[in-house]
Amino acid sequence: MTSTTQKHPKGLYVLFATEMWERFNYYGMRAILVLFLTKALLFDKVFASQVYGSYTGLVYLTPLLGGYIADRYWGNNRSIIAGGLVMAIGEFVLFFCGHFYENAALAMPLFYIGLGCMIAGNGFFKPNISSMVGQLYAKGDSRIDASYTIFYMGINTGGAIGPFVCGFFGDTGKSGDFKWAFFAGGVAMLLSVITQIVFQKKYLVNADGQSIGEAPKDAPAWFQKIPVMVGFLFLISLVTIALVYIDIKVVSYLFWLLLACIILIAVIIFSDKSLDIIQKKKVAVLFTVSFFVIFFWSAFEQAGASLTYFASENTQRDLGFFVVPASFFQSLNSLFVVTLAPLVAWVWIKLGKAKREPSSPFKMAMGLMLLALGYLWIATGVNGVGTGVKVSMIWLIGMYMMHTFGELCLSPIGLAIFNKLAPIKFASLLMAVWFTANAFANKLAGVFSALYPENGKVTSFAGYQISNLHEFFMFFVFMAGIASIILFLISNKLKNLMTH
Ligand code: GLN
Repeated sequence: MTSTTQKHPKGLYVLFATEMWERFNYYGMRAILVLFLTKALLFDKVFASQVYGSYTGLVYLTPLLGGYIADRYWGNNRSIIAGGLVMAIGEFVLFFCGHFYENAALAMPLFYIGLGCMIAGNGFFKPNISSMVGQLYAKGDSRIDASYTIFYMGINTGGAIGPFVCGFFGDTGKSGDFKWAFFAGGVAMLLSVITQIVFQKKYLVNADGQSIGEAPKDAPAWFQKIPVMVGFLFLISLVTIALVYIDIKVVSYLFWLLLACIILIAVIIFSDKSLDIIQKKKVAVLFTVSFFVIFFWSAFEQAGASLTYFASENTQRDLGFFVVPASFFQSLNSLFVVTLAPLVAWVWIKLGKAKREPSSPFKMAMGLMLLALGYLWIATGVNGVGTGVKVSMIWLIGMYMMHTFGELCLSPIGLAIFNKLAPIKFASLLMAVWFTANAFANKLAGVFSALYPENGKVTSFAGYQISNLHEFFMFFVFMAGIASIILFLISNKLKNLMTH
């Protein structure tokens, strides 16, 4: 995080707005997803957790394809618009699913089609919008770091407003209202696409004034024709609908697929003769870091699943004059990012001036420790509290604040070291490793959320037994805490490998 006071190209604010509306759509929908599943479609929490894991896991996998197609054939602009429209279609299909929620024969197919479109669309949107930010500047421009900080604010402005608006219209206590959350998400997604279409020609230009995000010159023209693009997106959507359906209903293959992706990428990079040993050591650091972020995000992303059950059932939300919808709590992380990021940036700058700024791996270990402390806080809040008893919302709010401090230590730094350490030749492939780690973590988040205890049922994971909320939250304390300590211990070694 660096100073954000310099002047930036107008294009940055176009990308800010486009991404803000898209994240509104994504996080707004996610805020009510498990509530819709358990209260309208009447799934049990275990199944709803699996759906959440499969969906969000695949959401982080498709950017591999969307990034590849954009780099070689479509360019970023086209891919963003195409992906955005597919996501909007997904939201509107989910709207109809929510409308016909009582008719399972109709609602279920609509549900998988909607999810599949969201997954496919996100794959074309997300990697491309992020990579456009850096293209606005000349190579080595000192404003690039700050531009990503501003962009991260756009992400989280959308992430904060989406759950409020979608929760307000959809999470009303009436099962028939959930559809309005999907509708609001769809409208936000259309606003994102319109922003991009209206402003891209004029403002999305590089330091020399040339348009960015165009298709590569040597890309085959036939593949850019609209009917061909539509056909291709239709095909990809069919595949993602099948992928999400199979992982949820038939056989859970996603972990294996992700593992295969990681191994394949590792083999490609480590067997490459043109990389020297120092470069390979740096790549090894990136793989190690990716491994540790799995522990972070799998606990962090409970937000959209088990922590929403907790908000819904175990949190006192009645303020007397207003009952806070459970979905609103999913705004907290983004709200805290927007308010706390300047503080974290200030701390790093202060420490930097005193020549005591921690290394990147050390900061990431701190992120994991803060995550563990957040869970320790909420575990304390529910200690000895019987099932069905509601605790103060201060526990959830405090936990989200600590989690956000953790995110601010880990997430921007993780991305930055990928940019810094990846050999140019493998920059995209290594970015894919980061996304795959996120996918793995989100899928795992669904598995962990399924451990949520209720009605005296005992669940267990790797020998750890969970029979109440305290034990459930302590699971994350142990997992993130142990990962953090190991990362602290090896952080010096990683730092040496990085700075060779
Ligand atoms: N909240 C951020 C976003 O939505 C980062 C999420 C992540 O990297 N897992 O882009």
